[in-house]
Amino acid sequence: MKDRYGRVIDYLRVSVTDRCNLRCIYCMPEEGIPYIEHSAILRLEEIQKLVELIHQALNLRKIRVTGGEPLVRRGVVSLVKAISPLAETVMTTNGVLLSEFASDLRAAGLSRVNISLDSLKDDVIRKVTRRDVTLSSIERAIESAMRSGLTPVKVNCVVLKGVNTGELADMVGWAEDIGVTMRFIEHMPMTGSACSYVPGNDILKEISVDFGEVRKTATVGTADIYTTPSGIEFGLIAPVAGGMCASCTRLRLTAEGELLPCLAGGVSLDLRDMLRSGAEDLEMVKAVHELVARKPHHGACGGVSMWRIGG
Ligand code: SAM
Ligand code: SF4
Repeated sequence: MKDRYGRVIDYLRVSVTDRCNLRCIYCMPEEGIPYIEHSAILRLEEIQKLVELIHQALNLRKIRVTGGEPLVRRGVVSLVKAISPLAETVMTTNGVLLSEFASDLRAAGLSRVNISLDSLKDDVIRKVTRRDVTLSSIERAIESAMRSGLTPVKVNCVVLKGVNTGELADMVGWAEDIGVTMRFIEHMPMTGSACSYVPGNDILKEISVDFGEVRKTATVGTADIYTTPSGIEFGLIAPVAGGMCASCTRLRLTAEGELLPCLAGGVSLDLRDMLRSGAEDLEMVKAVHELVARKPHHGACGGVSMWRIGG
């Protein structure tokens, strides 16, 4: 279905939990997230039912399973198995538990994974995640994803001034060496996050110092693809500086069953309430159509929490 600005809304991001085994400084407060009643979180069968309804409404092209950390949700593999026949199903994960699940996820129909990694230095990774995560543990997760066929693997790095600036070019080289694609994400000033933003142009400048001037060669979804003079590709996602709203085809379903047409907040639809109060399927499909019709042209980032809406 097209929204009123002509964008085809066919990509659903599903947050399967608000819990996480890390506490990234740009995403969650150190003490963790506010307590949410277990009963407020959708059961797996409810997530499945809502994804099916949204698919019925929009004929989804892609479903991204995210979180919090999706792999801490018990039963996530069976959820993937249930929804992957509907549309290409992918996952964003911090990688900590991925080696344990990669082959089961592949067998369940997951196509590929994006793995978050913000530095090549163990002390910086620990500082950012506030947990004992190391580069070698994430490299093992990447290897297991590649071995299981969850490819191409993309590695997401949130760029933080004075934290991982200075090693962005090294990350591009590292990714090329191990056969994954680096994607740099501008830090968005969300609730619970206290970090310094680096504009996309500065990210490109830093990489160009080592590799020579990079040039934009494509746009894939909300990511601009840049290529170094030696032919290495990497992605830049610039929600703050860039105009990615124009190509946004997404809806987001939170772990509590709220459907959001925009990361920046605004209008939303409480599908959990509709489902639990016995709404007819057609009524819910109609409500999804109405929400898509109200998707804002663009949004100003801030005021919402990434762990809640899944990035
Ligand atoms: N836990 C998983 C992970 O970290 O990959 C999935 C959920 S996480 C919220 C999804 C993505 O959002 C991650 O790539 C993370 O780096 C990104 N993210 C979180 N907070 C952010 C922020 N304030 N600005 C930009 N990206 C952010
Ligand atoms: Fe957890 Fe992902 Fe947020 Fe980090 S970015 S705290 S791994 S949900």
